This record gives sequence, C-alpha cells and structure tokens, in this order.
Amino acid sequence: MVHNDFDTDHRYCPSCRRYVRYLLSPQRGYCTRCAGPVQLFSPTDEVEFHRDLRIVGRSERDSQDRVRPSL
Ligand SMILES: [Zn+2]
Repeated sequence: MVHNDFDTDHRYCPSCRRYVRYLLSPQRGYCTRCAGPVQLFSPTDEVEFHRDLRIVGRSERDSQDRVRPSL
C-alpha cells in the first residue's frame, strides 16, 4: 500500500538549508524545525528541474518547428 504520509514528505527550508518535514497551510508550507516558509526544491535542485524542463521544451519545439533552420 502506498501512502503519501507526513513522515516521508519533505520540502526544502532555506533557513535550515536542508530538506525538512513541514506543515501545510492553504497558502504554503512551513518548516517544523524553524517555522520558516519552505519551498519545493533546494536552489541546486531547482536549477536541475528548470534545466530538465528546457530540454523537454526544446525537443518538443524542434520536432514541430522545421521552418527555421538552426544556425
Ligand atoms: Zn527550517
């Protein structure tokens, strides 16, 4: 059985500089260690995430846009 439970769900806390357990409010999540706002990714992981998105976007565009030759 798979559950998305509190013990395994983590987000990145910039204040603690690590992935932490968090409390989720309607607006956003908060660190259970320092009560600061958490984010989905660490800065490093966010760069990788956006790089992956660009790779996906580029390959989709290349397959559709064949009018303009690449330089
Ligand atoms: Zn924290």
